Parts: sequence; C-alpha cells; structure tokens
Amino acid sequence: MVRKLIAGNWKMNGSVSFASELVSGLLSKIEQEDASADFVVCPPAALLGSVLAQTKNTKLAVGGQDCHANVSGAHTGDTSAELLNDLGCGYVLTGHSERRTDHGETNADVKAKSAAALEAGLTPIICIGETEEERVSGNTLKVIEEQVKDSLPENTDPDRIVLAYEPVWAIGTGKTATPDDVAEVHNFIRDLLVTRFGDEAAQKINILYGGSVKPSNAAELLAVSNVDGALVGGASLKVEDFWAIGVR
Ligand code: PEP
Repeated sequence: MVRKLIAGNWKMNGSVSFASELVSGLLSKIEQEDASADFVVCPPAALLGSVLAQTKNTKLAVGGQDCHANVSGAHTGDTSAELLNDLGCGYVLTGHSERRTDHGETNADVKAKSAAALEAGLTPIICIGETEEERVSGNTLKVIEEQVKDSLPENTDPDRIVLAYEPVWAIGTGKTATPDDVAEVHNFIRDLLVTRFGDEAAQKINILYGGSVKPSNAAELLAVSNVDGALVGGASLKVEDFWAIGVR
C-alpha cells in the first residue's frame, strides 16, 4: 500500500488573495497535524508563482493543470513542463477531461505532454475516465484500457507517475461512482500496470479516484481496494473540506 495522495484541482478559480488564504489555511493544518496523506494543489497557471512562493520549504506540493509537449517555442498562452519545473512545481495534471473536451486533447496529446513532464522532472498525474455514454454502453473497461495504453509514454518511470481515474459524468456533477464500480476500474487499472511494469513497481503507483469527492463520501471511496488517493475539484477550494478528505 502506498501513502495516499490528495490532489486539489482548482480549475480556473481563485484570485491572488483567495489563493493566499486557502494555502495559509492548509499550511497551518499541515504544520499542526501529522497528516496521513500527502497533499498537492494545482492552481491556475497565473497563480503558480504566488502559491509556490508561499509553499516553499513546506510539505504542501504544487502542480500545474496542464503543460505543453514542447520545451519552448511559438506556442502562445501555453506553459512548458520545463518552466513548471523551473518554477518549483513537482506535479502536473495531464489529460484532465476538461482539457480533452475543451481543447480536443487526444490520448496521443496526453502521452506527449506526460512524456515532456517526465523529461522535465515532474510527476504527471495522468487523468483517464469514461463518459456517461461509454459507461451506459458497457464500454468502460475498453475505454480505460485504451487510455492507459495510449496515454502513458514510452519513457514512463513507474516511480514517477500518478494515474487518476475520473469518470467524466462524475466530475463537478455531484454524482459519484459506487464503491463497487470504483473497485472494478481501479483493480483493472492496477492489473494493466502490473502487466506493463511488473508487480513490484505497479503496486507503488498511486491510482487516484476523482469525481465529486467530498468529506461525506471520501472515507468510503478511499477505503476501496486500489484507491490510493483522490483528485478533488470543487471541494479543494475550501480548507476544511480538502483537509477532511485526506485526514482521518
Ligand atoms: C476534477 O476537477 O478533477 C474533479 C474531480 O472535480 P470535482 O471534484 O468538482 O468533481
């Protein structure tokens, strides 16, 4: 069993003052209590500098929400993994369903971005998950298998990746998958990782569950087999809620 990882995806929310209050609330919790999980926050790119300054030399890790596959160049508005690493980030989300939907990112794009993240020294949190239509039509495991196969780069170092299973229909909707559904998919992902990396390495990879995780359902979801943490959107914007998800 790996130590649980609780990642907060702030999406396009917050402001300089909001971020400062949220981070100082989390830091005071982390300093006072011996957390049973590791925490990472992923603010919008424009807030990374201030959040990184505030979290320097603390136990609160910081990640980007996306990175470009290239190191530099004519890519207006994008951020390279190299730059995220240079700023002090340890993580980056790749393949979040909102990126896949809003920006048409494919598994091949996610693979290239994850490769760039690894190359730059970051840990990619590679997001996968089926749509409602894919679940209803009985294709969940097929989609997951394809996403794992096609989104993980050749240079994958199993010690430095995190997978996040996020059923698309559960993100920001208040709906969550049942513990049985989560177990089925997480066990399946673990088996795919064992096939690819061998048992010892695969067991050490954190597989997070994401999709409307909140304090009231976190204990049940985090107790499911092969759930090694959570990727949290809405509830990561409140100190008490985010903290309560990871600490029990
Ligand atoms: C997410 O943004 O990855 C997410 C799971 O959001 P929420 O927790 O709000 O469903």
